[in-house]
This record gives sequence, structure tokens and C-alpha cells, in this order.
Amino acid sequence: MENQPAKTPDQIPVTVFKGVGPRVAERLRKLRIESVQDVLFHLPFRYQDRTRIVPIGSLRPGQSVTIKGEVQLSEIKYGRRRSLLARISDGTGSITLRFFYFNASQQAGLARGRHIMCFGEVRRGPATLEMIHPEYHLLESAEIEQMQDSLTPIYPATEGVHQLTLRSVTEQALAYHNQIKEWLPEEVLAQFSMPSLGDALQLVHRPPPDTPMDVLEAGEHEAQQRLAFEELLAHHLSLRQLRAEVQIKPAAVMTLAAGKNGTLQDKLLQNLSFTLTGAQQRVIDEISHDLRRPHPMQRLLQGDVGSGKTLVAACAVLQAVEAGWQAAIMAPTELLAEQHYRNFCQWLAPMGLSPAWLSGKLKGRQRTEMLERIHSGDAGVVVGTHALFQQDVSFNKLGLVVIDEQHRFGVHQRMALLEKGRYKDLYPHQLIMTATPIPRTLAMTFFADLDSSSIDELPPGRIPVTTVVMPDSRRQEVVQRVHEACREKRQVYWVCTLIEESEVLQCQAAEDAAQLLSEALPQIRVALLHGRMKPAEKEATMLAFKDADIDLLVATTVVEVGVDVPNASLMIIENAERLGLSQLHQLRGRVGRGSTASSCVLLYHAPLSASARERLAAMRETSDGFEIARRDLALRGPGEVLGARQTGMQELHIADLQRDQALMPMVEKAADKLLRDYPERITPLVRRWLGDVTHYADV
Ligand code: ADP
Ligand code: MG
Repeated sequence: MENQPAKTPDQIPVTVFKGVGPRVAERLRKLRIESVQDVLFHLPFRYQDRTRIVPIGSLRPGQSVTIKGEVQLSEIKYGRRRSLLARISDGTGSITLRFFYFNASQQAGLARGRHIMCFGEVRRGPATLEMIHPEYHLLESAEIEQMQDSLTPIYPATEGVHQLTLRSVTEQALAYHNQIKEWLPEEVLAQFSMPSLGDALQLVHRPPPDTPMDVLEAGEHEAQQRLAFEELLAHHLSLRQLRAEVQIKPAAVMTLAAGKNGTLQDKLLQNLSFTLTGAQQRVIDEISHDLRRPHPMQRLLQGDVGSGKTLVAACAVLQAVEAGWQAAIMAPTELLAEQHYRNFCQWLAPMGLSPAWLSGKLKGRQRTEMLERIHSGDAGVVVGTHALFQQDVSFNKLGLVVIDEQHRFGVHQRMALLEKGRYKDLYPHQLIMTATPIPRTLAMTFFADLDSSSIDELPPGRIPVTTVVMPDSRRQEVVQRVHEACREKRQVYWVCTLIEESEVLQCQAAEDAAQLLSEALPQIRVALLHGRMKPAEKEATMLAFKDADIDLLVATTVVEVGVDVPNASLMIIENAERLGLSQLHQLRGRVGRGSTASSCVLLYHAPLSASARERLAAMRETSDGFEIARRDLALRGPGEVLGARQTGMQELHIADLQRDQALMPMVEKAADKLLRDYPERITPLVRRWLGDVTHYADV
């Protein structure tokens, strides 16, 4: 026992700390804290300055400060809400403390003449400056209490784990800060003149009183940047490593006997009324090349709304089928999946192929039949929703999976799908298509395991959509505009947006709008489309719209992705201020698909918030998907853009993809160096930041 090597901080459990028994340890586990090292990497997200007392006379609204003074007056006010008010003065000025929740003893404690110290945010009140529900404690005398000797860190907490616990635990863990292994090579640290890991951790957990608060709050202190750099590096490396692992797995080689493209693909292209754009052809070649390699393709296909991704997917699918493999196309919504199904049925019929269809809503005998066709291999092409990868679905010989419009499909899902789609020891090829262009920083942090292709050209003859923004007080004019468009035999979408986070209410809004519009426009054929209609009804409505038997389609945002009716050239979006930029861009992409000039009217309900104003302005100013994505990222931040929560994608602790973009080139260089010269450091570095990433979630 004596001679065992000393344990390193990643091997020592948190239970060594005072105050951490099994109960607290269990709760800390919820914050993914198990070892001493984990504690040190549980980083504050804010700070408070309790190192000094600020004179009340110098306070400004917005500051979070510690003050000290004497209670001059305390009283209960019965206004709109009952509240306890206490006026505090320190000789330089006075401020009101306001409590909405309080008990009798609190009230008694805040008696006139008592000395009090409190911490809180200063706000402008009706009469004086105020603090609402400050933290405070009563003092025995006017004596100064001992102040904190560092800025106070505020940690992400969870139920049953309070700031005080976290402060105590980090305090104890900091004794180990110099034993944490430095995985960054000396030359990298020197090259970018970064502080050592130990120093950075010490500073971030307990910043000295003179550390500039604004720099810290912005996350721009060199210690924070040092950690952000390491975190981004860990994410990037984990994907690079994963990519390397996938790159050596075996996959089906899909070579074609006849010609470069294969006979099926030639046939498909011959039957089209148009020719491929140069960009489509280039991307099809890239994919085709991947499919001939004996390792799984892992390719991200980016192309703006309307750039013709579906056809590219169809070419890939035909290469798989011709080489004797099954291909699956998965879409995120029922509506989009149905539309792909129809497209594929139409495209593939001349080749004698009949795709199978599978969605969660398919039940009973039809489902059994489809499962059988998929299992026996009778269906070479299968189209559907997520239901494609449920337990009871077994493919005969799956070789290619196409995932459409799924920027929410994270690395976990990609890996799970790879496993699930296995045929013997061969892994399927994956093509992931997205209309949301992914800025480079995001791509390097979350998609570095993928190759990327981009369709950077729209089919010829597309006329940019004109976008106008109008208050809904001018609705009558808009209805008139719809009328005129329909008279000119153009078709129109009228989109009703989410009123609350409730599909029922959204459908209700669409029903009401459809009712009102049919009354206002009796000569016009109006139909309704929403998520709560039966699949057959939805399908019939979509078909009727496609066949121009409907002039005006009133819909919820179910039409957001993928819907393709080229003759529709006017879109009205109600309450557009409620939608995010990329959602608006997707919706608007439903028009401007034909050869007539299209327009989009964004109706809003005044007053507009500042960010809504920016979104609508962005929509009016640009129709470039990359520009929209850039602005979206700036407005919403990467977590929202990627839908991190939905995919269980790891959130960043300290890095911020927007703020830290400038670090990315350095991250890439450092990653190259580690991969080349220090491969053994990669696993512990990744584990430190991402935890155990070998277990992937289900598809
Ligand atoms: P997205 O990239 O948004 O998924 P789609 O695949 O739905 O775009 O294609 C949009 C429309 O453009 C469809 O009607 C499709 O048939 C048509 N299209 C695709 N490629 C071309 C092309 N090269 N020339 C003309 N029209 C095309
Ligand atoms: Mg599409």
C-alpha cells in the first residue's frame, strides 16, 4: 500500500473534501463532478465584487455591489403588490431595499437604527435607487465586516448544491491546482503566450480584487481565453479522433459497371426537364467518389434553400441501388418525408423502382408490409422520418443513409446511426444535408468529423424574392394583394405562426385565419394545412396545392422545410416577429422556386423588440443563406442555432463560439501538433472537458 504512486486529481474522488459525503457527492454527479479535477473544471459563469464596500452616494443603476449602512425607515407598502421597503443610508446617500416576499422576523430585523451590509443589483426605482431582494446580513455595530479577498465566483448550480457548497469545494480543490496535468505542449503555450493551466484555473476561480470586472464578465481575461482555447481544442480533437476512427472502418464499395454515373443516374437525368447546375454536378462527383471508397462517407452537404439538394441525394441513392445496396432517406418532419417520398416515387418509377415508406404514424398491416419489404430487400429505397431507425426496423443490406435538413443531427446521432445501419461488418455511408449554412467556427467545433460539400449556385432563372415588412394594421391591403395574385393565377401561402408553445393553439390560429380569409375572398379556393390533420388529409391538400387546385394555402409552420411548389409566388407570414431568422429564411424559401418574380410579406404586430426589428431588417436586406446564418449566429448564439439542447450536444463551459472565433485558427494548429507529436495526450485532454464520450446516445 505504502508504495502506490500518488493519485492525480482526476483519480481522487470529491469525497476527500470536507463537507462532501455520499449525499452531496450524488448531487455533484448531476453537475458531472466526480473527481477533484472535475471540480476545478466546473467554472464560474459570473462574478460578484464583495471585496469592497461602495459608497451609496456613488451607485449607478446596473451595478452589482456591496453596500453598508443604517436602516432609516422600514415600512410595508400596499400597492399593486405588497412589499417591504427599507431605506438605508451611509452618510453619502440612501437607497431603498425592496422585498416582495418576507416574513415577520425579517421585518422586525430591519428595524430603524440597525446596521446592515447587503449585496445586490442597483436599479432605478420609482423614487430612489433600489435593490430588489438583495442578499443581506445585519451587523452588530457599525464595524466593518471582513471583506472577501477575491471576487466572488458564481457557479452553475443544481438542486441541492448551493453556491456556498461549490465555493467551499472549489476552495479545497484549488489546493491541487498545480497538480493538474498540462496537456498543451510547451511550444504551443509559448507560441500563443498563454498562462499555465494552474495559474489560469486559480485566477478564474478566485480572481484577485483588482481584476477588471468588465473583462472577466466578457470572458476576455487571458486566463479565461486560455481555458476557452483548451476547451475548443478538446472538442475539435474529439471529432478529429472520431473521424480518424470512422475513416478506417470498412464500408460498401459502390462502383458502377456502366459509364461514369451509372445507368440509373443517366436515366434520371435524361428524364428531367432541366440540366444540373455546375455546383450540383461537382457535388454529385464528390459524393460518387466517396461511395466508391471502402470506408464510410461522412459528408455534410450544405446548400441554400432551393439549391436542389434533393436531386443530388437522388443521384447518390441511385449509385447505391445500382451497386446492389439499400438506401434510406430520412427527413425531420412527416410533411417533408412525404414530399421526398412522392418525388422519389416519381423519379424512380421509370426505372421500375418502388420506394418504401415508413413513418411513426404508419400502423397495422401497412406497417407490417413495409417492414417486410425493407427486411427482404424488396425495397431498394426507403423514405421516412425518424421511425426508420426504430428497433423493429431491420434493413436487408443498408449501404447509404441520407439525412435531410437535420442540422440538429449531432455527432451522437451520426455515430449511433452508423452502428445501427451496419450490414455484417460494413458500415453505411452517410450524407447529411442542410440548408442552414454552418459558419466555420461552429463547423470546426461540432462537425470536424465530417467532410463538407457545398452547392454554391442556385438553378438558373431564379428571381430573388422581394421582401416587405408591414404592421398587421395594414392587413386589409395584404388581403387585397393576395386577391390580385390569385387572379393572376399565382398561388399563395399564408403562414400562421406559433402564438404560444402549443401546437393546438397554432392550429387554431390557422383555422381562424383560413375562415376569415375564405369569407374575405369568396372567389378564391382556400385550404388549410396543419400538423394535427391526418396524414392522408395533409397529403391530399399538398397534392391539390401542387396541382393548382387550391389558390391560397393557409398553413402553420409545418410548411417550413422542404415544401416545393414552384408556382407559389407570394407568401404572407403573420406575426413574423415571433420567428427566428433561419426559420424565416426557410419559410421564405418556399417561394421564388419558379420563374415568376415572388414576394414575401412579413406582417408584424407592433411594438417590435429591438432584436425582432433586427431580424426583420435582415430578412428585408438579404436573401443570402450564408449572410442570414451569420446574422442569426450573432443574434441568437450558437447553442440556439444548432439546437444543442435537442441533440444532447455538449454545451461549452467557457468558450463562446461567437466571441472566440479568433481562437479557431490557433486551435487547428495546436490540434495538428498534438495529433502528430503528442497523440497520447488527446484522450485525457478530451476526457477532461467532455467527460466520457465513448457512449453515444440513441438515434
Ligand atoms: P433544396 O435544396 O431546398 O432541398 P430542392 O431539392 O427542393 O431544393 O429543389 C428546389 C427546386 O428546384 C425543385 O423544384 C427542383 O426540382 C428544382 N431543381 C433542382 N435542380 C435544378 C436545376 N439544376 N435546374 C432547375 N431546377 C432545379
Ligand atoms: Mg430540401
